[in-house]
Amino acid sequence: MQSIADAIADRRLPPGTKLTEERLTQIFGVSRARIRAALAALAQIGVVELRPNRGAYVARPSVREAREVFEARRIVERGLLDRLTRSGPLPAEALARLRAHLALEKAAEAAGNRAASIRLSGDFHLLLADLAGNGTLAAFLDTLVRQSSLAIAALEVRPATDCAAHEHEAIVEALATGHADRATDLMIEHLGAVEDRLAPDAAVPDVDLFAVFGRAGLAG
Ligand SMILES: [Zn+2]
Repeated sequence: MQSIADAIADRRLPPGTKLTEERLTQIFGVSRARIRAALAALAQIGVVELRPNRGAYVARPSVREAREVFEARRIVERGLLDRLTRSGPLPAEALARLRAHLALEKAAEAAGNRAASIRLSGDFHLLLADLAGNGTLAAFLDTLVRQSSLAIAALEVRPATDCAAHEHEAIVEALATGHADRATDLMIEHLGAVEDRLAPDAAVPDVDLFAVFGRAGLAG
């Protein structure tokens, strides 16, 4: 059910959308059992929520879950960059793939194609994981990228592209010039900038306890 996963990843299906089994069965022309299995698999990686007796919904991460996802990304992506740069400067072929990807990101950004921009900005991180050559970490990062896309969709304050292409470019240039530590610093900064667009204030309102309980509460 790659198409459901893709539609969630590029936010054509936003957080909280009800995923009616019957309708999906009609759309995809497959059995209800297959749809159910696909939804269960998506629930396994945290992008679908199965509510007892109510059905399946696109997951809606809480602020806390979103923070955890970004923390996990910082740990995993730092490790991947370490691995990628351990044996010296990147080979020309790897740099060529990264630069070709940057060109696609910029083109999507210039064309104002939001779905493509979202997909390509996640793919940049997955390309680095692929180049680092640890399939287990790459698969884990794939899940984390899907979860962070949902977190941004559910919680962002300022709608923007997930990742600014010029920030990716700076990371690639640091890698190209053999500045491994700088590339890692830029990546951590970059993930922080994406996370900063989430709205903790909107999700956790600033409650004035005096307004709730009144001054009298002080006496008790
Ligand atoms: Zn990025």
